[in-house]
Amino acid sequence: MNPRYKILFEPVTIGPVTAKNRFYQVPHAMGSGNDMPNTRAAQRGIKAEGGWGVINTGYCSIHPSSDDRPLPFARLWSDKDIDSHVPMVEAVHKHGSLAGIEFFHGGAFTPNRHSRLTAISPSGIQQRVSEIETMSLQAPREMSKEDIKQLRQWHLDATQRALKAGFDIIYCYAGMGFLPYHFLHPKFNKRSDEYGGTLENRSRLIKEIISDMKELVDGQAAIAVRISTDELLSFKSNNYESEAHEFFELIGELPDLWDIKLSEWTKECPSSRFAESGFMEPYNGFVKQLTSKPVVGVGWFTSPDNMVSQINRGILDFIGSARASIADPFLPNKILEGNEDDIRECIGCNICASCYNQGIPVRCTQNPTMGEEWRRGWHPEKIKNKSSDENILIVGGGPAGLEAAMSLGKRGYEVTLAEKNKQLGGRINREMTLPGMSSYSRVKDYRTNQINQIKNISVFLDNKMTVEDIIAMEFDHVVIATGSSWEIKNLDEKSIPTEFNPDANILTPDNVLEGSEIIGPVVIYDFDYYYMGGLIAELLSDQGHAVNVITPFENISPWSFMSNELNEIKLRLNEKNVHVSTETRLLRAEKGSVDIINRFNGERNSLEAGTIIIAGTRKPNDELYNQLVKSKEINNKNIVKIGDADAPGALYHAVYSGRLLAEYFGEPSLKDEMRLEYPTIM
Ligand code: ADP
Ligand code: SF4
Repeated sequence: MNPRYKILFEPVTIGPVTAKNRFYQVPHAMGSGNDMPNTRAAQRGIKAEGGWGVINTGYCSIHPSSDDRPLPFARLWSDKDIDSHVPMVEAVHKHGSLAGIEFFHGGAFTPNRHSRLTAISPSGIQQRVSEIETMSLQAPREMSKEDIKQLRQWHLDATQRALKAGFDIIYCYAGMGFLPYHFLHPKFNKRSDEYGGTLENRSRLIKEIISDMKELVDGQAAIAVRISTDELLSFKSNNYESEAHEFFELIGELPDLWDIKLSEWTKECPSSRFAESGFMEPYNGFVKQLTSKPVVGVGWFTSPDNMVSQINRGILDFIGSARASIADPFLPNKILEGNEDDIRECIGCNICASCYNQGIPVRCTQNPTMGEEWRRGWHPEKIKNKSSDENILIVGGGPAGLEAAMSLGKRGYEVTLAEKNKQLGGRINREMTLPGMSSYSRVKDYRTNQINQIKNISVFLDNKMTVEDIIAMEFDHVVIATGSSWEIKNLDEKSIPTEFNPDANILTPDNVLEGSEIIGPVVIYDFDYYYMGGLIAELLSDQGHAVNVITPFENISPWSFMSNELNEIKLRLNEKNVHVSTETRLLRAEKGSVDIINRFNGERNSLEAGTIIIAGTRKPNDELYNQLVKSKEINNKNIVKIGDADAPGALYHAVYSGRLLAEYFGEPSLKDEMRLEYPTIM
């Protein structure tokens, strides 16, 4: 290990328990609640195996009055729920790590769709946001004193169950819009009894819950508190710098650990386009001065130097992580063993976060094995040995081809990777030049670095392969990973992509990224669901062009709601004077102008357009594959296409398809009722 990083491996005491190092996987949703105990155990266990000192569950509801369906929360509602947590605790303990559980009562935040119980809150106040998870047609009920007593008891009942399951750290969750936090928040707590009014009164419930839990555990587990500080920092206090400072003066010594977060998830887990490593420091940097208890905080830390700096400067005791631990469960061990160059660095794309918003087990762009540890038996650092001496040609060095080459190479196969460009990376090389997208280069950097270390992989750059070349080379197997191209299509009135033969020259995002001349004003017709339209708009605005975006959707880039980016994209385009017309279709494009129509009221308009760009759909670059399978000179069974050449998608689809191919290459089909049946590939 580099001695600079030694401090990261110091043990830290948390009340009655001790973490073996400072790597702390904070509670975060992984999409596998009580319904998938084995998936959950394997997801968390792999991080313990990779060296994380503390591993927590995601949010775990303590009572049916906190029912967050259809989102994937965990549960500890009755003794029957204990067993489902045990596999995770055992998987974590097996590697000498501590297992934590994050209790959750959502209060007014949880609409209780399934339990049908009325939501409860300090003063019956509901935040009126139009997010599908929280919108409820029934207002929350103001809690009576009896309700408060019951809430304390529910925490105790859950604590008893958590102890039975074997957890070492048990959380009281007083953050975001959840119930204990609403008691703290003067806009949600208007009570006139001893639980409302002064901050001392507003923090009474949290104090009682912590004290109750501490008394009950009696040294068998540590009690942690997760708290949002950003709003408290902005609330004025008579005697302290802010209510946040006053709060820590009041109860800073009560729990065994403080876990600091923000009050909004989209702000706390922003994509790398909108935040840099260490962005949480203004919200967690003051806490250690006000308590002697260990402090954990996140902040998209992927570099060990940044982590060391947080400890040395007295900001944090534990390096909190969600995303870095998903992208590389073995990050601590790699640092410990002096292999930090092998870290699979998180790119900050928030595909993992999107899985929570979609209610499914977590996926990751960088780590295609995440979420497949149990179902498919995949491991981020290990892959089975080859089952034959056959050789493989992979055509195309984008994310799919790179992952396939790296993983097949690690299995020991002789792999030849041919790329027509002078560098590996495929679409990454273009997209990483867009504003805020430089960290996406890590998808190619990690894989290229690994490939360079594997002797049985040969890479040929500047090598455009033809059917004749491939046949002449007589490889046993050919993998086509030639990617996709943006195409010029329009949408009809039913939003179906149709052929489009405009009387004007239209550019695609590929043309723009390859340097086509742009003449303003620019009109971008965006019906890609994801980031491309907004990024091209940002790029061209930065170059000084006037930019209009039209989109048939209610928002630009509507899918990016899933990755916590939608609001930030809208804000950024607004800052950059990009004008966005939503619910609008393109009718006609001619040199110098476009005709557009509002989808609802049929209102038509014309816009001046020096350059027209359509960011809509992509078509697979599958000509090579189609010609090969038609050829009689090569065995069809030995040709496969992967990634965008098979079906254009996001980066995570391409990386996953490369891994899928490598895992099942030459293997008998999997037939396990609980897992997915998957046919032998090749
Ligand atoms: P994916 O996301 O599926 O990996 P990309 O578009 O990122 O797809 O990458 C495809 C790669 O395939 C690009 O780097 C492209 O240059 C390369 N490629 C396409 N056609 C050929 C070919 N005939 N020979 C070699 N490389 C090719
Ligand atoms: Fe990082 Fe993206 Fe993986 Fe999430 S999905 S851990 S943001 S690389």
